[in-house]
Amino acid sequence: MSDFSSSIDRDLPRFRAELCEFLRIPSISTDPERAGAIRDGATWVSDHMRQAGIPETEVIETEGHPIVLGERMVDDDAPTVLLYGHYDVQPSEPDDLWTAPPFEPTERDGRLYARGAVDDKGQVHMHLKALETRLSAGVDVPVNLKLVIEGEEEIGSRNLGQFLSENSERLACDAVLISDTGMFAPDLPCITTGLRGIVYTEINVYGPSSDLHSGSFGGAVVNPANALASILAGLKDEDGRATIPGYYDSVRAITDRERADLERLPMDEEILRQTVGSSELGGEKGFSPLERLWYRPTLDVNGLLSGFTGEGSKTVLPSKAMAKVSMRLVPDQQASQVVEAFEARVKELAPPGVRVEIRRFHGGEPWVADTEHPIFEAASEALETAFGTPPAFIREGGSIPIVQSFEDTFAAPALLVGFALPGCNAHAPDEWLDLSVYRRGIEALAHLYGGIGDKLKG
Ligand SMILES: [Zn+2]
Repeated sequence: MSDFSSSIDRDLPRFRAELCEFLRIPSISTDPERAGAIRDGATWVSDHMRQAGIPETEVIETEGHPIVLGERMVDDDAPTVLLYGHYDVQPSEPDDLWTAPPFEPTERDGRLYARGAVDDKGQVHMHLKALETRLSAGVDVPVNLKLVIEGEEEIGSRNLGQFLSENSERLACDAVLISDTGMFAPDLPCITTGLRGIVYTEINVYGPSSDLHSGSFGGAVVNPANALASILAGLKDEDGRATIPGYYDSVRAITDRERADLERLPMDEEILRQTVGSSELGGEKGFSPLERLWYRPTLDVNGLLSGFTGEGSKTVLPSKAMAKVSMRLVPDQQASQVVEAFEARVKELAPPGVRVEIRRFHGGEPWVADTEHPIFEAASEALETAFGTPPAFIREGGSIPIVQSFEDTFAAPALLVGFALPGCNAHAPDEWLDLSVYRRGIEALAHLYGGIGDKLKG
């Protein structure tokens, strides 16, 4: 196996200077006034793909911001790997909370601070430098490469799905590589193997035909606010479990490997408690905080509205009440089944004298990787070579909808190897990238681009 360590050390000052140049481009996708910067970002990515040794690059127009496509074909019979990332960033406001200006990258204590440092420009750059490291040393990249770097991830990847399906033949691949997730500690590389899905609903409870005087009518009518409160209370039991019939039936049990990895993670419950600023952590009985965040489904009220909510008092008996309720789902729950069972349970809990209507908003299925697929072995070996320890399999409590779109479009497995550390302030002031992780990540990816080819060939 080649050792890329010394060449990366030699080139690192230049790599970092280039990354700083990338980070100086304020490619904020949501801000129409930054359209020029978005274009500069796309051009920068395309130029630097070529510098890395990707011969074919194209800045492709969409209805929104351009997608940069890079291609390097070695052999029609070789396996194909598709890399996905994004060059757009979140807005930087409030700028006065940044220690140094957000688009002037600054190094402090081994960290590089700038908007986009870790989400996702820094991680995209690690891939480009890993490819450059291999190719400039004359070490083969034994797979066909397709690089898709978009400019609308932070605004919901509005045009990506259509782009993928319109180009599904051109982009056909055997594996999808994504670096837009995190790791648990600087010395502990991680592969994200599961994401939660979501079901989002609104419960409307209607009582009397108009608001009433609580003195004249209180006691003789069913109050929709009280009714809603009893519905919500009835949706969970004392152990923090949802009371929806069948809710946990298809929840996958935590595997031995996952349990062993959970034990490797330096998880400090007290730090979590302080981070959220609550007097005590809560959740489903019988599970640790990480199990609750990654492996268990939830049921939470996201908003409540009824009656008089102004300053002082008003003796009103409201005619309606509303709650927004969402459920984070885990494999193998199915959004459509969950929402049906939820609606039935809400109606069952509603007292006579009110009418209940439930609206459904966006939803998304949970995702879990097939970690038996050989690309996971390739990634584990590459990460262990660079970090000195095998990666932990972790999950993510939120959703990354594009992962499912990639798997659906290409029927290929997704590998989520990310390098954002806890507290890295993605989307917040003082976003940072750990420079030792940047260095080791480039090395790991340089190995991965070789190993993944061998594993995919079988
Ligand atoms: Zn991102």
